[in-house]
Amino acid sequence: MDIHEYQAKEILKGFGVKIPPGGLAYSPEQATYRAHEIGGERWVVKAQVHTGGRGKVGGVKLCDNEQTVFEAANDMFGKKLVTPQSGPNGKIVYRVYVEAGVDIERELYLGFVLDRSTERIMVVASASGGMEIEDIASSEPDSIVRSIVDPAAGLSDFQAREIAFSLGFANTQIQQAVATIQGGYRAFRDLDATMVEINPLVVTRQGAIMALDAKMGFDDNAMFRRPEISELRDKSQEDPRETRAADRGLSYVGLDGNIGCIVNGAGLAMATMDMIKLAGGEPANFLDIGGGASAERVAKAFRLVRSDDKVEAILVNIFAGINRCDWVAQGVVQALEANPVDVPVIVRLAGTHVEEGRAILVDSGVTVIMASTLSEAAEKAVGACTLQTSTTAQMAAAS
Ligand code: GDP
Ligand code: MN
Repeated sequence: MDIHEYQAKEILKGFGVKIPPGGLAYSPEQATYRAHEIGGERWVVKAQVHTGGRGKVGGVKLCDNEQTVFEAANDMFGKKLVTPQSGPNGKIVYRVYVEAGVDIERELYLGFVLDRSTERIMVVASASGGMEIEDIASSEPDSIVRSIVDPAAGLSDFQAREIAFSLGFANTQIQQAVATIQGGYRAFRDLDATMVEINPLVVTRQGAIMALDAKMGFDDNAMFRRPEISELRDKSQEDPRETRAADRGLSYVGLDGNIGCIVNGAGLAMATMDMIKLAGGEPANFLDIGGGASAERVAKAFRLVRSDDKVEAILVNIFAGINRCDWVAQGVVQALEANPVDVPVIVRLAGTHVEEGRAILVDSGVTVIMASTLSEAAEKAVGACTLQTSTTAQMAAAS
C-alpha cells in the first residue's frame, strides 16, 4: 500500500525528520489560505498523487505570491498526471499540498528498502539527489552508498554516522544527518514499511537538513495490525479492478488480452501466462486466489474475472498442495450455478484430491472443458477464443 507525500512527511516528522511547514488543500481557495497560514513569501504547491516524477509534468510549482498559489492549485485539481512511474493511465489530482519554499544548498538521496538477498533492511543513499534513483544508478553509480542493517542490533549511531560522512556532510551537520537517517530507519521498521524514500533530502542555505519529498510503501499483509496506516489508503489512486480484488482478499493484475486466468500461486500464474502466449493467446489478467482457497473465494474470483468485458474464455489452473481440488471444483460449480457464464470455462486441476475435484465438475452438470495438462489447457483456452470470435463473426455476417 502506498501513501501520499504529505502523509509520509507527517509520519517521518514524528520520527524526528525535519520537514518544511505545510498544509493540505482540497480547493484553490484552501491552498491560498494555507499559504497565508504558513506565511513567508515563497511556497511550493505540490500535487498529491501516488507517483514520483511530478516535478517534470507540472505537479510541483514554486510560487512567490498568493495569487500564483491559487493559480498553480487551480491548474492541478482534476488534472491527470502521467509520469514514467504512474503507468499509462496516470493519476488524478484531488489534493494538493502547500509548503513553505526552501532555499536549497544541496540535494541528496536517502532511501530504505528491503534487500531480499540478505533479507535485511538496506539504507541506500547518494550525495547526488533530486533525480530518480534509477538515473543516479546509471549516471553516477559510484555515488551510491549501500548499508545493510543487522536486525538484532538495529541501526547503530556509528553506522548512521558512517553513512552521513560518506554523503559528505560537514562536521556540524553530522548530528542532524544521523537523526534523519535514524528517523527514516525507525519509521520503516516500526510501521511495517517496504519502502521509505526521501528524495531530495536537502541542506538549506541556513544549514538545516530537511526532507523536501517523501514516499512510503507498506506491507499489505501487515496492515491488519497498523490501523493508523491502513486508514491513510486513498483508493482514488489505485486501479479500480485491483482495488475490487484487494477488497476481496485476492491478488489481481489487469492485463490487455482476452483469456481470464484463475490460478493459485504467483509462480503458477506466470507459467500459465507463458503457456497461453506460447499457444498464441493473450491473458486478460493475472489472478492469484492463493493457497487454501475456499469455494466462496473461487466464486468471488470468477465474478471478478467476468466483470472484465474483454474476457472471452476463462482458464482455471490449480495445482493443489495446501489447497484441495475438490474445494476449488465446488467453488467453480457454485459460481457457475449462481451466474451461468456466456464464455467457455477451461479447467485444469492437479494435486491434492484431484479425482474428487474432477468428479464434482463432471457430475455437476455445469459446462466446463476439462484439460489434464497445462499446455492442453492453454491450447483449449486459445482455441475457445478463436472459436467464439469466428462464431460471432458468422452470426454478424448472417444477420
Ligand atoms: P517529484 O518530482 O515527484 O519527485 O517531486 P519533488 O517533491 O521531489 O519535487 C521535485 C523538485 O522540485 C525537487 O527535486 C526540488 O528540486 C524542487 N523543489 C521542491 N520543493 C522545493 C522548495 O521548497 N524549494 C525549491 N527551490 N525547490 C523545490
Ligand atoms: Mn522527489
